[in-house]
Amino acid sequence: MSVLEPPEDHRICVCVRKRPLNRQETTMKDLDIITIPSDNVVMVHESKQKVDLTRYLENQTFCFDHAFDDTASNELVYQFTAQPLVESIFRKGMATCFAYGQTGSGKTHTMGGAFSGRAQDCSKGIYALVAQDVFLLLRNSTYEKLDLKVYGTFFEIYGGKVYDLLNWKKKLQVLEDGNQQIQVVGLQEQEVCCVEEVLKLVKIGSSCRTSRQTSVNAHSSRSHAVFQIILKSRGKLHGKFSLVDLAGNERGADTAKANRKRQLEGAEINKSLLALKECILALGQNKPHTPFRSSKLTQVLRDSFIGQNSSTCMIATISPGMTSCENTLNTLRYANRVKEL
Ligand code: ADP
Ligand code: MG
Repeated sequence: MSVLEPPEDHRICVCVRKRPLNRQETTMKDLDIITIPSDNVVMVHESKQKVDLTRYLENQTFCFDHAFDDTASNELVYQFTAQPLVESIFRKGMATCFAYGQTGSGKTHTMGGAFSGRAQDCSKGIYALVAQDVFLLLRNSTYEKLDLKVYGTFFEIYGGKVYDLLNWKKKLQVLEDGNQQIQVVGLQEQEVCCVEEVLKLVKIGSSCRTSRQTSVNAHSSRSHAVFQIILKSRGKLHGKFSLVDLAGNERGADTAKANRKRQLEGAEINKSLLALKECILALGQNKPHTPFRSSKLTQVLRDSFIGQNSSTCMIATISPGMTSCENTLNTLRYANRVKEL
């Protein structure tokens, strides 16, 4: 078995990545309440108050396929998440990698790296790292004879609608044909010949993404962004890797002050994240019925949830601070649920 081949019985891999405390948190003297005692365990040390007002720490432990602390690089995270799935798309597989977590926890940093537009360092994200390996494998003698071409698509789903990030955010229709094939009509598929060309697409698309201020005063991404690397053999779909930077999963208190539009956005996001969980669970349990129609996100990712050739990984990103405790626990519970098969 090659190193890049995913083990057969392991179609879903769930990992957690903790980011470092940022400058704002350090200035506010926010406490780091997350420890990663080993490479698959996450501990949350939640500060609680007794009736007599004395404080104590309640420790909660979660286990995952991997847990990355705040010193982990994008490359390391990639090695244990998306990289083992890359070769499957050369064997007609549908691979998917999700970044799930609260706004500001590091989803875009993980997926897009420096090329997502905001990060100052020059590290590559998962999009570029997948592309790098795809172009490497393309030259492998086993796959050379397939005469494969590589294409990139980049779109976002906002409020249940699909917008093409490579075509001035053109609104696109999603259609299901008689064979249950889902089509995003008119989605730009750009042929790419090297990593640099992929990065160019990432840059163009990222600058187009919907983001705005929320009452939590964070630069919040309220849309799901989907970057796909598609292999075609003589014009026909051969394999596909979907890389998904999900909308922030925060809710409740953070958005209580938000206006109606923000609340509707939040409701739509919750609905799609719930649908996503159901679909991943159905995939893991080999259920005959996958509820992919319950949201636009799962509908356009239908290929990822059906068939023996689908494999998925999730990177749940968490903020380390005490002020994010509630959101962090929600993220860990969601990831834990997805992992339970
Ligand atoms: P999200 O996409 O989840 O809203 P971002 O990826 O935009 O969050 O991250 C928020 C900020 O934190 C960015 O400035 C980003 O560069 C920084 N950041 C996130 N994760 C890390 C990390 N693992 N190491 C260093 N900085 C990080
Ligand atoms: Mg983001």
